[in-house]
Amino acid sequence: LASLKALTETLQEGALEDPPAARRFLQRIETEVDALSQMVNELLELSRIESGQVPLRLAPTPVAEVLLPPVDRLRPQAERAGLELTVVLPPGVPSVLADVDRARLVVTNLVHNAVKFTPPGGRITVAARASGDDVLLSVQDTGVGIPAEDLARIFERFYKGDRARSGGGTGLGLAICQSIIAAHGGRIWAESELGHGSTFYFILPASQAGETRTEV
Ligand code: ADP
Repeated sequence: LASLKALTETLQEGALEDPPAARRFLQRIETEVDALSQMVNELLELSRIESGQVPLRLAPTPVAEVLLPPVDRLRPQAERAGLELTVVLPPGVPSVLADVDRARLVVTNLVHNAVKFTPPGGRITVAARASGDDVLLSVQDTGVGIPAEDLARIFERFYKGDRARSGGGTGLGLAICQSIIAAHGGRIWAESELGHGSTFYFILPASQAGETRTEV
């Protein structure tokens, strides 16, 4: 908001009469507005989930339905960034009991981060496998990695790693993932080796055969 205020003041104080400069300022205003609206939307989503006002719409959902749409949507971005994006989904992985839109948002946030934090030539692997009564999903990258002292904190709201590496984000993406997975009764965590990449894991409950749509 402070930079928006400064940009509009500069325009009012004369930059408006200098069309090339005015266009630059308008572009920066647009960038700031986009970042602010992303932050507002993410805060709204976080408070909706945490207040329990919007119930999860849990239904037995094939894991492919959770993983593939977000991966397909982010594939062009990954390719532009020079990254190889693959999905490893062995046959026989049970369906999960999940709110499909929210579970896809988790995958979207994790793959988006992997794209942001992996230099060109790297690999991102999205995978799932059965684990007892649960399904273990993962997003692995060969990117910059996360320092050990940051690993415990990255799921906090507004937490962003080292400025130089984190680029423009709100620091809310992983907090949203955490809330969504907690609301499903699951767990999310990360493992990383600095300079070699990171793997984010999350667990969703497998749906029992014959279970019908449930509102919680
Ligand atoms: P944002 O991406 O908007 O900064 P997130 O909550 O999604 O916010 O992530 C918080 C921080 O965790 C990031 O700023 C970054 O430091 C770190 N991080 C998340 N994902 C990765 C990743 N795949 N590789 C390296 N660092 C990551």
